[in-house]
Amino acid sequence: MKRSRPSSCRPIFWWLGALAAGSLCAGANVDHFADNGYGNVLSTLQHPAGEHYQGVTYVAYQGPHEDPYVAAYVHATGTWIGPVQAGINTMGKSPDQIDKGELDNHGKPALIVDRQGYIHLVFGSHGGEAKYGPNPLGEFFMGTKGKMTHVVSQKPGDISAWRTLDNIPPFGTYNQWIKLANGDLYLFYRHGGHRSDWVYQKSVDDGRTFSAPVSVLKHKVSAASPTVDDSWYAWFDQGKGDTITASYVYHPCANPKHNAQRQDTYYMVMDCRDGSWRNVQGQSLAAPVTKEDADRLARIEVTGKDRPSHGTTHVDAEGRPQLCFPFAQKVRYYRWDGKAWQKPVEVAAGMGHVNDGDFVVDSPTTTRMILGLGNPGRDEVGWWKTTDGGRTWAKDAVLISSADQSFQTSAMIRNAHPDAQMLLAGVNPALGHLYRPMYLVGEHGPLGRPAASYLGERLEQIKSLPPPNTAKAEAKRKKKAGLGDDEP
Ligand code: ZN
Repeated sequence: MKRSRPSSCRPIFWWLGALAAGSLCAGANVDHFADNGYGNVLSTLQHPAGEHYQGVTYVAYQGPHEDPYVAAYVHATGTWIGPVQAGINTMGKSPDQIDKGELDNHGKPALIVDRQGYIHLVFGSHGGEAKYGPNPLGEFFMGTKGKMTHVVSQKPGDISAWRTLDNIPPFGTYNQWIKLANGDLYLFYRHGGHRSDWVYQKSVDDGRTFSAPVSVLKHKVSAASPTVDDSWYAWFDQGKGDTITASYVYHPCANPKHNAQRQDTYYMVMDCRDGSWRNVQGQSLAAPVTKEDADRLARIEVTGKDRPSHGTTHVDAEGRPQLCFPFAQKVRYYRWDGKAWQKPVEVAAGMGHVNDGDFVVDSPTTTRMILGLGNPGRDEVGWWKTTDGGRTWAKDAVLISSADQSFQTSAMIRNAHPDAQMLLAGVNPALGHLYRPMYLVGEHGPLGRPAASYLGERLEQIKSLPPPNTAKAEAKRKKKAGLGDDEP
């Protein structure tokens, strides 16, 4: 694999620097651009994790204290700016924890750049808290906490300073941004704990004000059983023209307790001109969409014993959707061929543990997908490609690989530059702490920089912490199993 590592630290200066006891360079180049990812740093769910805008790729991730951090890569000069802390996540604990069970991990940032170049993040919540008042569109339930928070850069294209915009409800989680071609912003999220509607709020003034939340997927007591509530996991993205696609799975949330069950895959699309929803054949769906209507009009597949997680969706030039849903440690690809859903196909079958997956549609029949593959002694993230509409997939270039760490993956960077298509976090369980190196990968592998640490005194501060309580962590894991979409 070809790798270029743009940097001011060229080999000749490397050598001179070594002679001069490191005076010329901060250090040897490393593949990561930061060492302060923290916990479950990334997910495809909170997205975009980054956007390429006017020659700069801006990325956001969960750093120390579960706070949002932002960095920027300037493609013309091959240089990095940041990372910079952009806000405070009220769910974070001080000092940083080394027991992964002590983190919430639901407050990851999603990033968007508005049409004036200001950078916006939404982050910091797992459904809000009762102290903020009643939640009109959902429930506080089993671990909901935090405060959904919106920050914006003080200047366009400048990540150095941020301010909070107090203009969204505190109750969201799984925050997702969409920007239409005209610059209208849509913020989608679940409005509380499991038993909450999925909603969006629209902004036509670059995120300075938002419409009231509009419900898209309805939570209610199940028609099938009074001890089950209809609940959902959904992923939204821009479709063809002024449309927004929704792909989702059903969660029959046992009431009053909870279970981890997820089932069936669904697709529908919104016409942003009037906010109406329709299924893939063009039949209308009344919003908020109920379980009954979703089953009748939007369901792609009854998945039976197989448990899907939230997926990713993109459309071809005709607006026909392609989808990828994770099922445990496999991923399943779906495609609407204009008349019917193709038979779902497992991508990278038999290649080990396959993580998440987001993809780029080049043409109706050619699609490239980035997948993480885990095998003993070797983890990698790389491309898979189909040229026959998804019936068969071939392994393509590897973006990064490691013998001692696995990788968490984001969704595709919005409007991605070929050199910077996905944000990754490296996970090495042997390190004894939860800080993760951060990578931005593209056609030339990771975009590295001279080695430096952005952890300050944090490694010192966590030294006095007791070792992780594995029994407690396991009990907590069992109790929370399936509560979030966030279990490793
Ligand atoms: Zn539930």
